[in-house]
Amino acid sequence: MVELNLTSVSGTATGGDKTPVKVLVLGSGPAGFSAALYAARAELEPVVLTGMELGGQAALTYTIENYPGFPEGVGGSQLGELFQKQAEHFGAKVEFDTAHEVDLSKRPFLVKTDNAEYLAESLIITTGASSNHLNIPGEKELTGRGVSYCATCDGWFFKDKKVIVVGGGDSALEEGLFLTRYASSVTIIHRREELRAGAILQNRAMSNEKLGFIWNTVVTEVIGDEKVEAVRLKDVNTGEERLLEIDGIFIFIGHTPNTQMFKGQLEMDSHGYLKTNMQMETSVPGVFAAGEAADPHFRQVVTSAGMGAAAAIQATRFLESQGETAEVQGG
Ligand SMILES: Cc1cc2nc3c(=O)[nH]c(=O)nc-3n(C[C@H](O)[C@H](O)[C@H](O)COP(=O)(O)OP(=O)(O)OC[C@H]3O[C@@H](n4cnc5c(N)ncnc54)[C@H](O)[C@@H]3O)c2cc1C
Repeated sequence: MVELNLTSVSGTATGGDKTPVKVLVLGSGPAGFSAALYAARAELEPVVLTGMELGGQAALTYTIENYPGFPEGVGGSQLGELFQKQAEHFGAKVEFDTAHEVDLSKRPFLVKTDNAEYLAESLIITTGASSNHLNIPGEKELTGRGVSYCATCDGWFFKDKKVIVVGGGDSALEEGLFLTRYASSVTIIHRREELRAGAILQNRAMSNEKLGFIWNTVVTEVIGDEKVEAVRLKDVNTGEERLLEIDGIFIFIGHTPNTQMFKGQLEMDSHGYLKTNMQMETSVPGVFAAGEAADPHFRQVVTSAGMGAAAAIQATRFLESQGETAEVQGG
């Protein structure tokens, strides 16, 4: 076992000091805590910066029923707490802090946060992605209570209910079609007269009896006390407003990965998703990315957690190859 020559591996820097760490994890969602768990079990004493959303997006939802190991489902925030507890149990240190600047031009990588500066021998980026929001009254308050950004996750809760889908692209139609398995009716609300989605999807949607469309219309308010009861719609041509009673609203107007900070330093696709290979390696050796920050395809707790674990295993191997760590721990 070769030890990294660090004066300390944790603790908050003060007075301009930089805190050296072997593994710095940016993000406290499923990918971040899984990465921290694996890095901690490899005795790398990882530090996790939580960002503003402790537990990540999963913590936003009431129940998660498709994460293995919980036959009756688990509360989103409860799952986040369990992830955190398990990582901490093995030595991960959790800092309630947000990174706002990185210098990846040389190792150790400099990471500046709200409260500190870190020098990280390796970096695991799990900053996730955020669904684009409509930013209308009621949307935030009723998220997880009828407002959803994930049909795969929440569709089941809308068995025989009336739902609307906001959006006109591929994901709006795909998710809308998926929702017809459960809902009694699915209405796509689109602000234009034409869809952006591909022809095959459009045909499939148009021929589905449960699926209808309201064109040239935007949602201006989500209404309900404990849960969604209605939405206010506005015709963009006439300006006319009306209420539509519904049980759920699914919003698919795009995703934005939280990767702006890495622009110009890491390779990313045109939407800002970090490019990685199968080993979760980014374009800079020693920097790994996992979960939704690097994944426009699957966007699930289980897939993000898996990528986080893979990134940490690879970071361990990387540090070992640099002569800087304990044994590689793959399982
Ligand atoms: C309402 C809702 C319901 C969902 N339901 C389900 C479900 O039932 N089943 C399922 O499998 N999936 C579900 N999902 C999707 C699932 O939550 C995500 O796929 C998963 O959380 C992605 O994990 P992640 O770790 O990659 O990123 P995220 O969960 O997005 O976590 C990102 C983390 O990065 C942190 N961060 C961001 N910027 C910084 C920064 N600059 N510095 C430090 N930290 C930063 C954030 O605070 C956060 O902790 C749902 C999503 C939503 C929004």
